[in-house]
Amino acid sequence: MIPCKGIGINDYIAIGRAKVIVNHTDDDYPVKADNPKKEIERLHKAQEVAKTELQKLHDKTLETVGPDDALIFEMHQMMLDDVEFTEMIENEINNNSSSAEHAVIVARDNFSSMLLALNDDYMSQRADDVKDISGRLLDCLSNADSKAEGEEESDVPLIICAEDLLPSQVVSMDLDSVKAIALGKGSKNSHASILANSFGFASVVNLGDVFTNAAVNGCVVIVDGKKGEVVINPDKETLLEAKQLEIAQKKHLAHLQELKGQKAITKDGKEVELAANIGGPEDIPGVIENDADGIGLFRSEFIYLGVDDYPTEEEQFVIYKNVLEKMEGKRVVVRTLDIGSDKSADYFKLDEEENPALGLRAIRLCFSRDGLLGTQLRALFRASVYGRLAIMFPMIANVWEVERLIEICNQVKADLKSEGVKYDDNVEIGIMIETPAAALISDQLAPLVDFFSVGTNDLTQYTLACDRQNPNLIPFCDTHHDAVLSLIERAANAAHENDAWIGICGELANDSALTEQFLRMGIDELSMASSHILKIKDIVLNIDLSKKEKPTTTEIIVDDVLKK
Ligand code: PEP
Ligand code: MG
Repeated sequence: MIPCKGIGINDYIAIGRAKVIVNHTDDDYPVKADNPKKEIERLHKAQEVAKTELQKLHDKTLETVGPDDALIFEMHQMMLDDVEFTEMIENEINNNSSSAEHAVIVARDNFSSMLLALNDDYMSQRADDVKDISGRLLDCLSNADSKAEGEEESDVPLIICAEDLLPSQVVSMDLDSVKAIALGKGSKNSHASILANSFGFASVVNLGDVFTNAAVNGCVVIVDGKKGEVVINPDKETLLEAKQLEIAQKKHLAHLQELKGQKAITKDGKEVELAANIGGPEDIPGVIENDADGIGLFRSEFIYLGVDDYPTEEEQFVIYKNVLEKMEGKRVVVRTLDIGSDKSADYFKLDEEENPALGLRAIRLCFSRDGLLGTQLRALFRASVYGRLAIMFPMIANVWEVERLIEICNQVKADLKSEGVKYDDNVEIGIMIETPAAALISDQLAPLVDFFSVGTNDLTQYTLACDRQNPNLIPFCDTHHDAVLSLIERAANAAHENDAWIGICGELANDSALTEQFLRMGIDELSMASSHILKIKDIVLNIDLSKKEKPTTTEIIVDDVLKK
């Protein structure tokens, strides 16, 4: 039994078998192999596994997003069967005694260069598809070798173990089989953690390198998010204890299910809106399933991250329309793209920065790139007639930024009007309060907007000068720090004095220890990963704001000292 300490991302516990994911570079694969026949057999087996994976992704996307988005997986399946591509790989194996992996790399490079040389937009996109399916084949080839016995059984819950994961890797996980995530690196507020949390995976990060070891593959593992602990090959007693907790967790989750349909109202009648954070239309089933009052944060940058080139106005319009229609009149807050820092896509060709979190990110990048924001805003305003849209701008620190953003919105609306394109003139405009500057000048910002939403992940990082990605800073990063909480309270007061509403959409929104304090500040909306909504509703229903606030720990100590 090997217990490992890390950082728990949520309170969930899960038991399953480890599946180790190693992010390889080309140099990690063997170049030569001495049995071409065996390599070709390995190749064919990997092609079959890849096609099955793609079929599952196709079906999931078809169900959750729609046929247009599912088409890409159908196309990738067809490409895996492409005779020319397969022959290229087989020839490389037969003629040069290459390993199946090396042959895939050679064929990938040759085939994609051939397509790129045609100098045609369509063909260069196909070159990207070739890279994509080759990556999948390489994964299947290496996973086939390290696959543990029994892992193929689909009903065995999987615990994904890796050094780190890209947000896109978390997004493409099979929700039916994956129950937990154990990462060597990572921190509570990294985007991979936020996504893992939103899928309800029990998650522990910052565990060191033990989980990247292939020997862990297939081992029984307990991931305990509450304890921030992962146990490999637990003894019988530990396993039974974990099983009991898993059963209790299931019971609690069943109790939470009964809260569906009820509004989140405190015992003394204060209603708070519980909204969901999403990364794209694929998250909508979870939003509906968890009875969210709306969407408080649609991180629209994920639309830009999953692709190889800037999404067009039309492509974005389809996505926003889809989300608005599915939310059937409930408010959907779309945050304009927040690219930069830890979220980057190659085609943006961002300059290297010494301090990217303090760099040219979010609206700062939009101001420096012609057309970037305009395209997104056109798509958003066009989609606004299909539901109740609100637009929110990230990383605000100055009044002039908000004034300029409002001018851009007005210009976009004027253009649409002159083109005879319909839009909703009542779209609410809001900003994120995620820099200390924005909180401190919130009284100047509030008259300009309809709402604030506090991004506590960045607000904490910038207030406490603690990089949100750096696990070594955990002892210094008190998420309940008075400095952060008083900035939130200041923004809440400024909002209400100016007839604006205020929400919280950073991770603190799902911190049940703060729910009462946030309600006492007058926070109107809490937006979080859908999987937390019912848990927070349960807390809200048991709060009574008419009763005196519970004393803080410091007050109890002071009281005790005075009594003595
Ligand atoms: C935040 O900073 O709290 C936030 C919600 O935005 P993100 O986590 O995407 O930076
Ligand atoms: Mg942020």
